[in-house]
Amino acid sequence: MLVGSALGMAGAAFSMLRPEVSKASGTMEKHLLESLQVCTPKDALTRLREGNARFTKAWTAASATGTPEQRMHQLNTIWEQNCQIDPIALAKGQKPFAAILSCADSRVDPGWLFACGSGELFQVRSAGNTAFDEAIASLEYAVAVLGTPLVVTMGHSACGAVKAAIASEPLTPLLEGLVKPIRANLKSGDSLTQAIEGNARYSAAQLTARSAVLKDAVAAGKLTIRSASFDIGSGVVTWL
Ligand SMILES: [Zn+2]
Repeated sequence: MLVGSALGMAGAAFSMLRPEVSKASGTMEKHLLESLQVCTPKDALTRLREGNARFTKAWTAASATGTPEQRMHQLNTIWEQNCQIDPIALAKGQKPFAAILSCADSRVDPGWLFACGSGELFQVRSAGNTAFDEAIASLEYAVAVLGTPLVVTMGHSACGAVKAAIASEPLTPLLEGLVKPIRANLKSGDSLTQAIEGNARYSAAQLTARSAVLKDAVAAGKLTIRSASFDIGSGVVTWL
């Protein structure tokens, strides 16, 4: 049902394109898709890899420079290839090429570390990047309605939520609920890194285990799901 209505919504979005672009809906659709940089699943993963490589290069260079001005110059190079973004097209619709389930940590901004601009990544974030119902529902929307071909669940180094799950210190009732699924997936003797990577893999597995929409999209070859881990110090995203 969701997928059926998704097609209707996509059609409505395409019908709202700027009138001067085209007379035929096919041409309008083509223009919007081109403006919004649509990719196939394989291209989407390549784009994330390339974006992270650009980010890592700038991140490393900024780490090696001494002044705030030099760091700013290095970090600004992350955005040099994002000038193709069309604000008018974005006002009419979105076609994010990937969806990222990541932690709320302030150092783990997917747009930043994959060198992506507005309209390129559909982002779902909460501490610990857990696949809660709301997160899965959001990803169903990205896949079924927006046609996003790639979903990435991403953990990161020094994750406070995973540290809290490993520790036995008392938490508020709501925070206990937050770390519960992370804690349930911990294996005896896990290091923090192992726990972080295991948690990202577990979140990815939960998507198809609990969502028929996402499971069917994978089975139909329309969706790829990957897990990853981001290292804050080096800037590198490792694909698990
Ligand atoms: Zn975190």
